[in-house]
Amino acid sequence: LVEIQGVHKFFGEHHVLQGIDMTVKPGEVSVIIGPSGSGKSTLLRCINLLETISAGRIYVHNDLIGFREVDGKLHDLTTKQIAAQRREIGMVFQRFNLFPHKTALQNVIEAPTQVKHQSKSAAKLKALELLEMVGLSDRANFYPSQLSGGQQQRVAIARALAMEPELMLFDEPTSALDPELVGDVLEVMKKLAASGMTMIVVTHEIGFAREVGDTLTFMDAGVVVESGNPRDIIANPQHHRTQEFLSRVL
Ligand code: ATP
Ligand code: MG
Repeated sequence: LVEIQGVHKFFGEHHVLQGIDMTVKPGEVSVIIGPSGSGKSTLLRCINLLETISAGRIYVHNDLIGFREVDGKLHDLTTKQIAAQRREIGMVFQRFNLFPHKTALQNVIEAPTQVKHQSKSAAKLKALELLEMVGLSDRANFYPSQLSGGQQQRVAIARALAMEPELMLFDEPTSALDPELVGDVLEVMKKLAASGMTMIVVTHEIGFAREVGDTLTFMDAGVVVESGNPRDIIANPQHHRTQEFLSRVL
């Protein structure tokens, strides 16, 4: 479903992604780990078109992300085409950026009604299902300030799912949470994985990587150092940089 081929990203002189190759099959959970500044967020942001890549190609569902190819030449997409591609990809960030003046339910129905022009009643029905899925049926009419961080993050997941994306990206979704709230969010992500959603997850939760991940990729300084079966990599990392990183987080 996701095909990343030789992707480079520069911020000015700074070569942040130095030729990333990665494949995620439909229904797979691909976990990315790596030290701060290694380019994990940048890679997710490139997939989701929050950043433009400097070289290489990214395909989602055989759709070339960010460009249109004509006779081997790449042309920029229109704003409308970019918006259409972004709609297919859900993203959950470290900070749950919900609309503070809207309730949980209003947050979840916002994009389906505004962007997809769904009727309010249909969007509401779907939103209540999603809030139930993330364990927040009884919090539908609460405002973000009345919810814990973990509950807000679960609303953020429901909100992303309301657009019915074919791919979900998670950028350290639990690292801003108090330890006792992490489990509930991971539980929702696990449920989502079991439902067959294709997911790319940047996280330091090695237990989640081992239990839920189909592949584990270790990035350092803008390159993929090693990638493979999570259990194998965690138990038996091949590269000294992976060993060193795992010894610090385990
Ligand atoms: P962390 O674990 O801390 O979230 P990361 O692996 O997600 O780190 P990125 O956020 O992708 O790392 O950043 C990779 C590098 O790119 C860093 O050196 C960062 O300073 C740089 N960088 C990221 N975004 C920008 C930007 N908009 N402009 C300039 N440099 C940037
Ligand atoms: Mg990051």
